[in-house]
Amino acid sequence: MKQGKLIVFSAPSGSGKTTIVQYLEKQADLNLGFSISATSRAKRGAEIDGKDYYFITADAFKKHIRQHDFVEYEEVYTDNFYGTLKSEVERIWALGKHVIFDIDVVGGLNIKKQFPENTLAIFVQPPSLEEMEKRLRGRNTDTEEKIKERVAKGEKEIQYAKDFDVILLNDVLDHAKEKAFNLVKDFISN
Ligand code: 5GP
Repeated sequence: MKQGKLIVFSAPSGSGKTTIVQYLEKQADLNLGFSISATSRAKRGAEIDGKDYYFITADAFKKHIRQHDFVEYEEVYTDNFYGTLKSEVERIWALGKHVIFDIDVVGGLNIKKQFPENTLAIFVQPPSLEEMEKRLRGRNTDTEEKIKERVAKGEKEIQYAKDFDVILLNDVLDHAKEKAFNLVKDFISN
């Protein structure tokens, strides 16, 4: 099967990366297909199974691990598994599209390690940890405990930024979207 390119967006949650990824996905001339991850976490708010994630049980997830079905996977939070199925990447390439990922920092770097030539790995940097926490609270979808857990994880994740191909500061969202568009456009044209 012909391999397309892989565009990885990673960042602490609350950095705005999902908004940027959704914007890029809508740009027809970039020809991107969103990699839907499998997860064992519970559905949040208006999320849709098979669109935002493949929501599966922890047991089903562990079975996929045993069968070596994942390109990468992680236990991101206790008992909350997230992973990219090999079949998902192949599905998108078969459509003749490039794959765009919205995954955590370690997962993103694992994709880059496996496809070093074909991957553009972008780290979305929130303007500050305070701003990140504010965005998480504004989202109103997580408990206080989860927010604290995500902020603590974010502090660690920012240390991986230097291992990415590009650090994209998400200060003004429209600027970040435009920069992201140009980065992806250049990468897929080469
Ligand atoms: P959330 O629960 O907020 O949707 O996601 C929690 C974290 O898991 C985020 O940092 C998200 O990017 C990450 N994540 C989502 N899908 C995957 C995946 O397939 N693999 C890995 N390693 N992380 C993922």
